[in-house]
Amino acid sequence: MQRALDVLKTTFGYQAFRYNQADIIQAVLDNKDAFVLMPTGGGKSLCYQIPALVLEGVGIVVSPLIALMQDQVDALSQLGIRASFINSSQSIVERQWVEDALQRGEIDILYVAPERLLQESTLRLLDCCKLSLFAIDEAHCVSQWGHDFRKEYQQLYILAERYPHVPRLALTATADARTREEIIKQLNLYQAENYVNSFDRPNIHYSITESSGNARAKLLKFIATDHDGQAGIVYCLSRKKVEAIAEWLMQQGHNALPYHAGLAADVRRVNQQRFLREEGIIIVATIAFGMGIDKPDVRFVAHLSLPKNIEAYYQETGRAGRDGKPAYAWMNYGLQDVILLRQMLDNSDAEELFKRVTQQKLQALLGLCELATCRRQAILAYFDEQMQEPCGNCDNCKNPPETWDATVAAQKALSCVYRTEQRFGVGYVIDVLVGKTDERIIRNGHDKVSTWGLGQELKQVEWRGLFRELIALNFLRVDMEYGSLKLTEKSRSLLRADIIFMARKQRKIEKSNKTVTKKTTTKVRSFDVVLRENLRLLRNRLADEQGVPPYIIFHDSALDEMANKRPMSDQAFLAITGVGQVKLDRYGEAFMEVLKQHELPASLKNKLSDTVNESLWLHTQGQSIEAIAEQRGLKPMTIYGHMADAIGVGLIGFDEVVSIGIDERDEIEAMISYLNISNGDAMKPLFDALDEQYNYGLLKCVLMAMGR
Ligand code: ADP
Ligand code: ZN
Repeated sequence: MQRALDVLKTTFGYQAFRYNQADIIQAVLDNKDAFVLMPTGGGKSLCYQIPALVLEGVGIVVSPLIALMQDQVDALSQLGIRASFINSSQSIVERQWVEDALQRGEIDILYVAPERLLQESTLRLLDCCKLSLFAIDEAHCVSQWGHDFRKEYQQLYILAERYPHVPRLALTATADARTREEIIKQLNLYQAENYVNSFDRPNIHYSITESSGNARAKLLKFIATDHDGQAGIVYCLSRKKVEAIAEWLMQQGHNALPYHAGLAADVRRVNQQRFLREEGIIIVATIAFGMGIDKPDVRFVAHLSLPKNIEAYYQETGRAGRDGKPAYAWMNYGLQDVILLRQMLDNSDAEELFKRVTQQKLQALLGLCELATCRRQAILAYFDEQMQEPCGNCDNCKNPPETWDATVAAQKALSCVYRTEQRFGVGYVIDVLVGKTDERIIRNGHDKVSTWGLGQELKQVEWRGLFRELIALNFLRVDMEYGSLKLTEKSRSLLRADIIFMARKQRKIEKSNKTVTKKTTTKVRSFDVVLRENLRLLRNRLADEQGVPPYIIFHDSALDEMANKRPMSDQAFLAITGVGQVKLDRYGEAFMEVLKQHELPASLKNKLSDTVNESLWLHTQGQSIEAIAEQRGLKPMTIYGHMADAIGVGLIGFDEVVSIGIDERDEIEAMISYLNISNGDAMKPLFDALDEQYNYGLLKCVLMAMGR
């Protein structure tokens, strides 16, 4: 285990294990099997990479993500680790090279696609190697209930039979109880130690809204106001929509690229590469995109249509914010999505049981969408995890939806469905409710039914929302073939008013996330902005030269930390999170050179806090107190307080900050002496004694200038 810790520090540049990484690694080192459930970004990879480095022989990583193997191997090579892969994208020569290296024992970690692994020739190759472990990544692919089902995964039990003495790990970020059982069963992991971590991703903000036909505008507002220039993923259900949205976002001036299974392989590859390598790219994709994408700085995931179920939602949104910084999961869905998903399901020739399970899962997802309480609590509850308090970081927590007693309106809706003989879709029924007299309604004689024009108290969009809820909560059903609405078992209790139907009020415009995002973007102190930008340019140039994504060289967070701490020695540079020996050797000098060129201004080499220095810096740039306050979103008084601190340690003079007359200053000084106030005392008595004429910040400046 000591070796494992050494590898963590010197190779990966991390100080301590996270979650239960240590226990998992210990188990594998003890030759035990393990089942690992850890949220995305939790650090699953280290659980097998470190044992593979510590143990003798090669660790085999089974992964369905051929397109990403190159990047994974590149990332490991950057750390000085001997890693390689075998998959169908390789030429014969390349594969031969890998096989030779493998037989010479020169590879410590080998990524293999499952179909390749299962070929007899590959297995025979492995027979001749010393194997340290098998890691089965994305293990939920084994489950046919899941959204990423891969047939070959179900064959992987072969590994247990053929290599009984090699420890196996199954890892996944998403699995409800049923899927978990299936993984254990299919992969024959009954003996495995179970490591189940919390599913919570506290840095992700969840928000779900219904669309009333203005989804695009909402998306644009979401991106333009809070996420301009940031990397993100936008999910759509159909290929057509993917292309339309990507093009439209481009027209709106955003850097968007499409990705779906219908695009030529090389277009897909290029788009994915650009997403990984360039900054601020938005990828618009069907769910074909994203599994295994370990880009750490995806700031948002937007759904323009419903995912299939909560697992899919959780996994897709989980691609945001792997670096632990604030990230946003945003979804806008409509009635159409529900109908479309149900149609797709109904038209599939799956078995009855499968359809039923899928249907239930869709219901659970709709329940999450309709929810008026904390989303995170509901998501975690779905994964059998209890969260006591509402999270405070989701739309419902921040902006609780109002509900209203919609029993009567709902009864009108149901009876209008009944009066129009359950033969029509949502749009038509609403037209009847609001009393339209178009030709079709008249032809059908539906302007004569008792519910015609009975629903004028709600607008058409409001009716749509209500129907959505009624369908989601199964008070109405949509006929799959014709889209017509049907009453259900549940309808009766509502029609008889046995129950009260509380509907969610249509949401007011969501409060902007601006204040929260600000935190992420202003983490760099203003006096570090130029430095930070130069660090970024250097990193990107190095990445370009080597043809790897920038974050493989250093994460954004590592650059932030460098700018913040300005390490000038090897020792100090090693202390940056993510810097191990090899990265120090390769890049230390170049980055420290940039750091040297941006020495901290003398006035900021002090013991004052970052926030004080921030104000001080802006002040030395010639900005007024009011301007600084405005820019930083703080009160002028606070800025005066900062200045007072700087005056106190002699960094700036009183007159540079405050312009008051000599008499006034005398008055204040006299009162300070009279009341015998010194730094740290309450200022209120002084404030009161001076008839509230001077603000606290100013008083503090005088006090500090007096050196008390
Ligand atoms: P996932 O569980 O999604 O596969 P990864 O293995 O890709 O997550 O890890 C997510 C990020 O966290 C990576 O950048 C990884 O290097 C980092 N990480 C993993 N373990 C640690 C640790 N103990 N300390 C610091 N960073 C870590
Ligand atoms: Zn919440």
